[in-house]
Amino acid sequence: METIQTKVLVVGAGPGGYVAAIRCGQLGLETTIVEGHRHGGTCLIKGCIPSKALIHAGTRYEEITAHAKKPAMGISVDEAPRLDFEQTIAWKDGIVDKLSSGVSGLLKRHKVNQVFGWANFINAKSCVVATENGDLKIEAEHVILANGSEEVSLDFLGDSEHIISSTEALSLSEVPKHLAVIGAGYIGLELGIAYRKLGAEVTFIEAADSILPQYDAELTRPVSNWLKKNKITMHMSCKAMAVKDLAKGVELCFENAEGNEQTINADKVLVTVGRRPNTKNWGLENMCLDMDGDFIKVDQYCQTAMRNVWAIGDLTGEPLLAHKASAQGEIVAENIAGNKKPFDPISVAAVCFTEPEIVSVGLSPSEAEAAGYEIKIGKFPFAAIGKAMTMQAGKDGGFVRIVARKDNHLILGIQAVGAHVAELSNQFALAIEMNACLEDLAGTIHVHPTLGEATMEAALQGLGHAIHI
Ligand code: FAD
Repeated sequence: METIQTKVLVVGAGPGGYVAAIRCGQLGLETTIVEGHRHGGTCLIKGCIPSKALIHAGTRYEEITAHAKKPAMGISVDEAPRLDFEQTIAWKDGIVDKLSSGVSGLLKRHKVNQVFGWANFINAKSCVVATENGDLKIEAEHVILANGSEEVSLDFLGDSEHIISSTEALSLSEVPKHLAVIGAGYIGLELGIAYRKLGAEVTFIEAADSILPQYDAELTRPVSNWLKKNKITMHMSCKAMAVKDLAKGVELCFENAEGNEQTINADKVLVTVGRRPNTKNWGLENMCLDMDGDFIKVDQYCQTAMRNVWAIGDLTGEPLLAHKASAQGEIVAENIAGNKKPFDPISVAAVCFTEPEIVSVGLSPSEAEAAGYEIKIGKFPFAAIGKAMTMQAGKDGGFVRIVARKDNHLILGIQAVGAHVAELSNQFALAIEMNACLEDLAGTIHVHPTLGEATMEAALQGLGHAIHI
């Protein structure tokens, strides 16, 4: 078997692994990356990017359909639009292909050796990769594990080709007439809403009594209102039990909130009940690493229990987000190069690309109080922001909310809900990372007209003197 030695071996070319490898290359470290599927990982191939493409296509289709039904802003469309969903998926695949080959190009530019195949570890610093040219043994001084995560499935539902995961939901050949979604977390909601906009009837089965249970009701209310207005059926406090194939589609049986069995018929059943770290079938058991529940245990430098073995991204625990994985990837490269740096963000922004969007950075009011802070809250509605009105984005009940310490006005958290608020998330994260106070946000001249003015006004409102309300 051919054997190669490398200073750094990265396993997995998702947003954690490929960023780590590029930064290692920039720092002059001889680096090899192994990927068993495609460059870009879950995020780029079957997660963040394709889901946002589908959401965008759904929104566009919904808007044109609305104009066909009822002219608005002086724009009328004579006929209802037609949807060629295979073309939509091909367009989405085109974006994915371009970005995936872009990652490969970036790795090449930074002189990262790329190996294709599944890595199997025989000990902590060596693995064997089954490449198309035969087995290749790689021995490394440093190993960065970035193997990512996979969907949790519900095997007890039974066996049916109509039960799909988020991966399959991103590549269907047609829009299902009726899509049942098990799990109203952010992935289920993003996809369910996209399919509703594309014309599917959508029903959710959720075990908890609220959608997006990690967020408070004030923040999720505009999303709940959209679901209601758009006739999405929500079965809350319900447990999916079984799926039975019918001549066409399936029957989904669930236990309802009263504890009784209930059934619905659907064309597809999308299971989005969470993700778990990819810890099986690649020799993790041969590496003598410590675990933290299902995840690989790491310290603040992303160092595992084994010297010079590092782990990043979804493999290491919550939050399972691409930007967290990438940030850890950069930190680990720096640490290997001898620039000791901890992974110590004050907060990692989380965004739900629902309708409308939700952003949360740092502590919510109840989390801040539970942590013992006396707080002040500044809140400002998009209904009073001119730019929101010009974008028809002011009527969905959206707002920006800032949570600050009462004594010195240090900002502890910022949340927002509303159309396009994902674009405000970096401003929020920066404010917290820089230890900004209400006065800093209120005193920053915000461009008019922009949605970001709501952030400044929320800070002013927290100080007791918002201008436009
Ligand atoms: P991954 O992206 O999972 O990459 C791991 C890679 O390792 C894979 O390519 C895999 O093939 C490879 N691999 C694993 N084991 C081996 C092995 N033994 N040998 C060779 N290769 C191996 N996050 C966000 O921040 N924003 C979003 O909007 C968002 N939307 C999402 C939507 C969906 C539908 C899904 C499913 C996820 C979404 N996520 C989102 C989550 C995001 O995709 C993950 O947090 C992110 O991809 C994790 O990056 P990672 O590098 O840790 O692992």
